[in-house]
Amino acid sequence: MTPLGQDIARLITLEGPISLERYMGLALGDPRYGYYMTRDPLGAQGDFTTSPEISQMFGELIGLWCADLWLRMGQPEKLSLVELGPGRGTLMQDVLRATKNVIGLHRALSVKLVEMSPVLREIQRQTLASSGVAVEWREDISALPELPTLLLANEFFDALPVRHYQRMHQHWHQRLVGLHQEGRLTFGLAAEPEHALKLEAPDGTVLELGLIGERIMADLSAHIARFGGAGLIIDYGHTQSAFGETLQAMKQHAFVDPLEAPGEADITTHVDFERLGHIARAQGLEISGPTTQAHFLSGLGIVERAARLLKDADAAQTKEVEAALIRLTEQTPTGMGSLFKVLGLRHVDMPEPAGFK
Ligand code: SAH
Repeated sequence: MTPLGQDIARLITLEGPISLERYMGLALGDPRYGYYMTRDPLGAQGDFTTSPEISQMFGELIGLWCADLWLRMGQPEKLSLVELGPGRGTLMQDVLRATKNVIGLHRALSVKLVEMSPVLREIQRQTLASSGVAVEWREDISALPELPTLLLANEFFDALPVRHYQRMHQHWHQRLVGLHQEGRLTFGLAAEPEHALKLEAPDGTVLELGLIGERIMADLSAHIARFGGAGLIIDYGHTQSAFGETLQAMKQHAFVDPLEAPGEADITTHVDFERLGHIARAQGLEISGPTTQAHFLSGLGIVERAARLLKDADAAQTKEVEAALIRLTEQTPTGMGSLFKVLGLRHVDMPEPAGFK
């Protein structure tokens, strides 16, 4: 068992089985052993690769998305640019490089990176040191500037802890992580049903609830409703809420058992975009999409951007740009172009953002 697995086993011995939400929170965010807290998980050497790490085109197009909105919202003198879970800082680096020549934009920007991991904060600091823009960090979303805000989140919501409930004898029981007789971690169901959950479903049905993500979405939406602005949420997930579970764990680019190596595997779920959109609207925002990443990036001109890069490219770069274009927009069932969705949110006074037509 991993050191964190041993800690969790001791915790369960003392307190009894814990919720999946608590398990995921520890596996990903435990200050000493949590997955994100101790390492750089990204890239070929790591456990998974994200769109900004695949190609600079991704961040550049999002940079132009931001600049276009700033111009059309009347070039406010101060604009807060917030990224949630910036990983290595690559997306923000590409956003800032692509918008360098937009007169007045960088002077208006106040950039905040919301990152819980000290290791990743340090990598972000190095990545962005030469960007020419001052960047500050926040551990959570509680103290964002009281300014019109552009919000970016790529593969952030999938990393937030969820709860599972399973239907048994016409009641919902929470799924818990307990200890197997042989000492390993195992799933079970709480004996007591959750009477507050009123949804009807056949026995055996699983319900996945991302209450932490919903809370963050509600707070961010309230912030934009109050101070103005817009946001882009990009992640793998579904456009319509549905029963079923999507919990997955990844280590070195392969799926593993989510209970096997807490602290050493990335544990995520698919994002329920219908739910997130609903929450944003409940706070008074307008939404765009969700649409597919392929549709969004095509709408922003990724094909034209690739053609531009190919003009000055050598043979190796040509191969790289062509492969990245396919990978980011591929529309097979598991391709990033269709698996990934993009949700836009905005204050009612904002113009409609690019990429959703
Ligand atoms: N956006 C990046 C990285 C995605 S990985 C990219 O696309 O490459 C998820 C990121 O979210 C990591 O930076 C991780 O440390 C951060 N993160 C996960 N849960 C978090 C939380 N609860 N609060 C703040 N940051 C979190």
